[in-house]
Amino acid sequence: MEIVVFVKQVPDTTEVKIDPQTNTLIRQGVPSIVNPFDKNAVEAALQLKEKHGGKVTVVSMGPPQAKDALKECIAMGADEALLVSDRAFGGADTLATSYTLAAAAKKLGKVDMIICGKQAIDGDTAQVGPEIAEHLGMPQVTYVAKIDVNGETVRVEREHEEGYEIIEVNMPVLLTVVKSINEPRYPTVKGTMKANRKEIPVWTVNDIEVDAEKIGLKGSPTQVRKIFTPKQRVQGEVIQAETAREAVAALIQKLSDAKIV
Ligand SMILES: Cc1cc2nc3c(=O)[nH]c(=O)nc-3n(C[C@H](O)[C@H](O)[C@H](O)COP(=O)(O)OP(=O)(O)OC[C@H]3O[C@@H](n4cnc5c(N)ncnc54)[C@H](O)[C@@H]3O)c2cc1C
Repeated sequence: MEIVVFVKQVPDTTEVKIDPQTNTLIRQGVPSIVNPFDKNAVEAALQLKEKHGGKVTVVSMGPPQAKDALKECIAMGADEALLVSDRAFGGADTLATSYTLAAAAKKLGKVDMIICGKQAIDGDTAQVGPEIAEHLGMPQVTYVAKIDVNGETVRVEREHEEGYEIIEVNMPVLLTVVKSINEPRYPTVKGTMKANRKEIPVWTVNDIEVDAEKIGLKGSPTQVRKIFTPKQRVQGEVIQAETAREAVAALIQKLSDAKIV
């Protein structure tokens, strides 16, 4: 099986704090990591390769330092990596991002399965995967929690709030995966050595067939006009009362006054 996994390098948002004085994000010293859902995607691809043979290629669009994210995926066991990087791709929204990634996938040639994370923890839109599928005219299943391949058919479990949907689909197909699908493996020492030696090709705007009007900031129908830090939540109130009954009555009154109940 030829599997392509799209991985994004993101700031570790669990490490981003808000400066209460300036109300801005403290990004200094925040490490860049492989988007956690994308590690699940790589793990799913590696498991399929181990069972059915084939090759796993990881692809990222981003600045030169995104190579580190790709190296981590090689250290996990991916066979090939590709960085799509050019100033012309900068400022892309999800449409321009998915258009560029789809163009890279087209140039890679035959692919049986594309796997993406459900969403990136920085942009948090969960749009890129489905948009890539649309650009490639490929069927897609999102929120995938289990993948079984039988010949040309893929049987997946799609996670729901109330259970699972079982979907059968023919390859080539694009899947986006949720956390519960697996526990991503750690890179091995041998894998890390391989990753350090690996030459990662970089494709610029001249290497893929794209319309200059559809990439980067120019090709983005949405524009971020303003970014601001949400206000700190006001401190909660502890209701003091003689008895639990009185405290509950006071709480219900407050909730009712605030039109919450
Ligand atoms: C300077 C700048 C300006 C921006 N301006 C805008 C703007 O004006 N409007 C706007 O909507 N957004 C803007 N963005 C955000 C940008 O659109 C998103 O970061 C990007 O499109 C991916 O969307 P997401 O993070 O929500 O990914 P999601 O859709 O949540 O990601 C889903 C999955 O898609 C794959 N994926 C996503 N991105 C990549 C990637 N780069 N490489 C490989 N795989 C990937 C991964 O598998 C990921 O798990 C801007 C970003 C920058 C840096």
